Amino acid sequence: MATYEYDLGVIGGGAAGLTAVAGGAQFGARTILIEKSGKLGGDCLHVGCVPSKTLIRTAGLWAQTGRLKEFGLPDVARPPVDLGAVMDRVRGVIDRLQAQCDAEGKGHLFAELRPLLSGDGEEPYETVARRLQIPKATFKVLVHRFRQRYGQLLREEIAPTVSSPEEVEDELRALLAAVN
Ligand SMILES: Cc1cc2nc3c(=O)[nH]c(=O)nc-3n(C[C@H](O)[C@H](O)[C@H](O)COP(=O)(O)OP(=O)(O)OC[C@H]3O[C@@H](n4cnc5c(N)ncnc54)[C@H](O)[C@@H]3O)c2cc1C
Repeated sequence: MATYEYDLGVIGGGAAGLTAVAGGAQFGARTILIEKSGKLGGDCLHVGCVPSKTLIRTAGLWAQTGRLKEFGLPDVARPPVDLGAVMDRVRGVIDRLQAQCDAEGKGHLFAELRPLLSGDGEEPYETVARRLQIPKATFKVLVHRFRQRYGQLLREEIAPTVSSPEEVEDELRALLAAVN
């Protein structure tokens, strides 16, 4: 009789594949995930849900600043937006965070947590925690730690571009306001 090293094999490490292998592993199945691109997360993470929501919110914020007068506020000069620069910066940090998670064997967790970085997570914590088969309180702690690490990495990126620690915080607030 044929023997197999794995109980479950999944091709594709997108939202569906990651959820399937994480679920299988949590039920004790020996699982294998095959991903051709070298990056876990699939469309949702890299080109779909997350980047599109970030762009939509950025565009919304920018459009609002064009309506200041309607609200009795003084008009402000609006220089052209270098959206590429904003996205490059955010993408660079997120790539580093993903590399850390992958190295720690937590790629599937990263896929679940990443939408929460930009405040775009549409699913209630309870639903995600249930899917990961961990208590909601544990999931909340994970989200908190993940955001702290994200903030730390952002600060490291920003620090060399400003002249004082106070400016790092100002810059961070401005960056988060632009992408959230
Ligand atoms: C612009 C945009 C916005 C979106 N917004 C939302 C949203 O707001 N909410 C929402 O729910 N959905 C959204 N989606 C849809 C969402 O991205 C998809 O439903 C989701 O990515 C599907 O996941 P998946 O795992 O089935 O496939 P994919 O994400 O496509 O993952 C497939 C994976 O399989 C790998 N693969 C393919 N062939 C092979 C092979 N032969 N061997 C090994 N690996 C392979 C690929 O490299 C990829 O990593 C959006 C999509 C787009 C394009």
